Amino acid sequence: MKEDAERVKAVREVIGEDTKLLLDANGAYRFFEAIEFSRMVEEYHPYWFEEPVDADDYDGYRKVAAKSNIPIAAGENEVTRFGFRDLINTQAISVLNPDAASLGGVTEFMKVAGYADANGIVMSPHGQQQLHIHLDCAVPNVNLAEFYPPQYDPKIYESFLNPVTFNEDGTVSPSQAPGAGLDINRKMLAPYRVQ
Ligand SMILES: [Mg+2]
Repeated sequence: MKEDAERVKAVREVIGEDTKLLLDANGAYRFFEAIEFSRMVEEYHPYWFEEPVDADDYDGYRKVAAKSNIPIAAGENEVTRFGFRDLINTQAISVLNPDAASLGGVTEFMKVAGYADANGIVMSPHGQQQLHIHLDCAVPNVNLAEFYPPQYDPKIYESFLNPVTFNEDGTVSPSQAPGAGLDINRKMLAPYRVQ
């Protein structure tokens, strides 16, 4: 934890006070460790602390939220509206990270978004930027788009014919292609075909 906290401090020093700093523990901590870590880094004002405990540990989320001053994010490992209902009902989550590709599709995503909004929860969908950029535009409670720029991961970007546009001011824009614009770049993917 000491090493992790030093990393958080170093990142805050590099990015300054005006850039959002997000923490993701990927469920690595026990609840009491997450509480201690949260106190170690709260002075660096993280925007969220994602999956501080195991994704299925709803009681753990409750315990961390009760004693942490950092908003908690979760949801990338949750599936179906029933799972999200139970997660949201913990009253521990401030930011939801639903993933339409794993939670049950676009219709299920919209149901989750509605229930989250009714509970005052904002969302930052997990991965799948090509699909989520359109869903982000369709609901009122998305405040951040997770986006992998081409210089970070060119394959994600080049796998589609109408990729998300990355603007210089840090915002992203959807393509104007019909539907969700999910036209696969078959030529680019051909070398990876399994025979
Ligand atoms: Mg994550």
